[in-house]
Amino acid sequence: MMKVEPFELYSIVTGSIRLDGGAMFGVVPKALWQNVTDVDELNRIPLATRTLLAVDRQSRRVILTETGCGAKWAPELADRFAIRYDREAIPRALEEIGLSEEDVTDVVITHLHFDHNGGLTDWYDEPDGQTTLRYPQARHWVHKGHWEHANDPHSKDRASFIRQDFAALTEAGILQFVEGEHPNAPFEGLEWFVSHGHTPFQLHPILGSGSERVLFIGDVIPTVAHLPLNWVMAYDMAPLQTIAEREAVYRRCFDEGLKLAFPHDPKVPGVAIEGKPERPIVTSALPL
Ligand SMILES: [Zn+2]
Repeated sequence: MMKVEPFELYSIVTGSIRLDGGAMFGVVPKALWQNVTDVDELNRIPLATRTLLAVDRQSRRVILTETGCGAKWAPELADRFAIRYDREAIPRALEEIGLSEEDVTDVVITHLHFDHNGGLTDWYDEPDGQTTLRYPQARHWVHKGHWEHANDPHSKDRASFIRQDFAALTEAGILQFVEGEHPNAPFEGLEWFVSHGHTPFQLHPILGSGSERVLFIGDVIPTVAHLPLNWVMAYDMAPLQTIAEREAVYRRCFDEGLKLAFPHDPKVPGVAIEGKPERPIVTSALPL
């Protein structure tokens, strides 16, 4: 657990997925990236799916950022990406600190790629039938621009969006749209950062206050191995923009002491960094 006023922060591993190493490291040759990650016989690298849990005991606010792959997978698709999803991971983590899923007040949707927010919904009764919301009592924060993109994606990233993951949110009336490039802070201890390089209007929470703040960097920097400035994913819609966004984020880390939490690192939930934007140096792993 890491304390950043007014929150306790926890990184919960909800499961794992394997994605093509070449796609994950873009133009970086395998001769380099194979030195920093395992790789299987299908050229896939192991990734975790992480939820960042923030708890403010005083205001009784319980915020989940991301919900994992979810359990709605047909076996052949689960096999393609070696998807493992532990449906009990989030309730277990909540129970350990005296809370339950009913206590979740807010869900932050960074973006709607299936490996980040398939866990928003379950099948109601049978596969391919209706879906039911996992957190029907919680406000679901998403950037309006991203919601529009997810509902009408480009052919390049169409395969990353599965409508059943999020369609049920529309009717439920619990969507809380965030708008603009510099959205207002919704409440104390939570600010927003918006990025576009990976996918349009990815929404990142910055949790904490003063010099103790953690930015959930999402798919701008999926793992610690992606810290080198130019090691961006082939999945990115606008890789040059990802590089510019990383540079801006790194400067804030160096100047303001901002720390980073990752969505996909199998071992490292987050880091503090220093140095130069071209190749930041990790000074410590966060105790998330
Ligand atoms: Zn993504």
